[in-house]
Amino acid sequence: MSAVAVNGWCPGALRPMLSGDGLVVRVRPHGGRLEAGQAAGIALLAARYGNGLIDVTSRANLQIRGVTDEAHRPLLEGLAQLGLLDSDPETEARRNILVTPFWNVGDDTCSLADELERALADSAPDLPAKFGFAIDDGKERALAAASADIRIERDRAGELIVRADGAKLGRSVRRGETERAVLALAEWFVASGGAKGGRGRMAAHIAAGAKLPEALRGDAEPAAVMATPHPGLYPHGAMVGVAFGQLPHSALDHLATCASALRMTPWRMILVEGMREMPDGADLITEADDPAQRVIACSGAPRCGGAHADTRALAAALAPHIAPDVRLHVSGCAKGCAHSGPAAITLVATPDGFDLVRGGSTRGTPALRGLSGAGLIKNPSVLMGGR
Ligand code: SF4
Repeated sequence: MSAVAVNGWCPGALRPMLSGDGLVVRVRPHGGRLEAGQAAGIALLAARYGNGLIDVTSRANLQIRGVTDEAHRPLLEGLAQLGLLDSDPETEARRNILVTPFWNVGDDTCSLADELERALADSAPDLPAKFGFAIDDGKERALAAASADIRIERDRAGELIVRADGAKLGRSVRRGETERAVLALAEWFVASGGAKGGRGRMAAHIAAGAKLPEALRGDAEPAAVMATPHPGLYPHGAMVGVAFGQLPHSALDHLATCASALRMTPWRMILVEGMREMPDGADLITEADDPAQRVIACSGAPRCGGAHADTRALAAALAPHIAPDVRLHVSGCAKGCAHSGPAAITLVATPDGFDLVRGGSTRGTPALRGLSGAGLIKNPSVLMGGR
């Protein structure tokens, strides 16, 4: 093995994760945005040093897959040349920031992201690996359902607030004091015991009874939540879906030729900035009602060594039978890498067949056990409770 640190969770570029197809190297775009040159550069690096596949994650990051130990170092050098490498693994890990893709030039969004990045690099406390931040400062909240522990949002009157995830109300802040308010919340979380051996999350901490101090609490109601976005044209550009959250390098390279920049989202979709028509491409989802949008599946077999089944083949076969407003998650094991939260239907592969969980996550209690993939394809009504 190389001298790089290899961890079993939360991969970065400097601290990659070992998966069934090699090292997974995560790239965190600054402010959730890639210049076209950066996107093309990532596509080239994935082809040269990985197996050519790139994940689009629910944290709005990209992951270059199938990297060997020997290729990791030159890949890092390539990322550094693109301005996409942090100075050290700790700074990289803290830069866990989701940014709404629905911003306009002149909005506060980009500068808020930039200032928060610098504040976290300079003085953030030691936070759990999955602890994250959301900058969701549009008139409507786009990221309300996305995982984040501290949120910068707007209230009903359009003023900035900082809100702890799990708290109904947020604290009103002036433009210049936003990062300080975020850091104060993060420090309270750690000091009040929320970090719990490096695994705690804000909403669970508050649900367990932790009381925010008066100075951090606030009484501002956050703005309304916007409907979940779908592939299609938006005032900010063309939103394209990525089936199973994974692209061949050629598809990312193609998108890089369509616009000056790409904005990453937590919905396994990419906003092609400023584009006024949907891009073509066999590997892209461009129709809002494409059945592939209804299913989530992790890498599965044979791509992941921990998988008990070929998740994507089953998800693709079942997708046309899933109602448009229902989400099916097919996971190759209980780890749930592709989706940590609940879904209407979750299938978890085990050595004895699939467990079926309704309205829960991969760790939920199964309603049915030992289902065969072939049987589900033959009789998909079982998924919805039929016989
Ligand atoms: S959830 Fe899927 S990708 Fe993650 S370890 Fe299990 S089989 Fe592998």
